[in-house]
Amino acid sequence: MKFSQPRLPYSIDALAPVISPMTIDYHYGKHEKAYIDTLNALIEGTPFEDMTLEEIIVKSDGKLFNNASQAWNHIFYFFQFDPNGLKEPTSKLRDKINEQFGSFEEFKAKFEEAGTTLFGSGWVWLSADSKGTLFITQGKNASNPLTEGLKPIMVFDVWEHAYYLDYQNRRAEYLKKLWDIVDWDIISVRYGE
Ligand code: MN
Repeated sequence: MKFSQPRLPYSIDALAPVISPMTIDYHYGKHEKAYIDTLNALIEGTPFEDMTLEEIIVKSDGKLFNNASQAWNHIFYFFQFDPNGLKEPTSKLRDKINEQFGSFEEFKAKFEEAGTTLFGSGWVWLSADSKGTLFITQGKNASNPLTEGLKPIMVFDVWEHAYYLDYQNRRAEYLKKLWDIVDWDIISVRYGE
């Protein structure tokens, strides 16, 4: 078995009440585990077995792409949180956000809007190109900006399984609450600081 599920760097109740222990148990413990298990089964005995997960995402399609990308996306999502993390971007990333979006508050509003207006299941991404220009994009289903040559920086999961146990149909409330646990120190490192 090539890919395994990394242990979360916080306890199962660390993100409550924003994300409950039950949601982490189902979302990371069951949904994410299933994507990784299926990914491992699909690549066995194929050339994909010798690739990194990022390479598989860029080079595959169909069922393999869906499971590889979902496996990667969920690790990226869960590893950006820390209830005691930095609540706002600093230095280079803060300056870039202010330059492109006006202010941190305007950036957050635009990001939340991308989440509430995405129809169906998907992800809202913050990515950067090679020049450091930022992009907020909506992606359906298992989308990942790596396939467009962009570097992912932050992601909000807007599949119903991400929020239904805690927020039922209140997707906008879920998106707004996520800001309480995003660690901007982690996001800055991803941006390249
Ligand atoms: Mn999910």
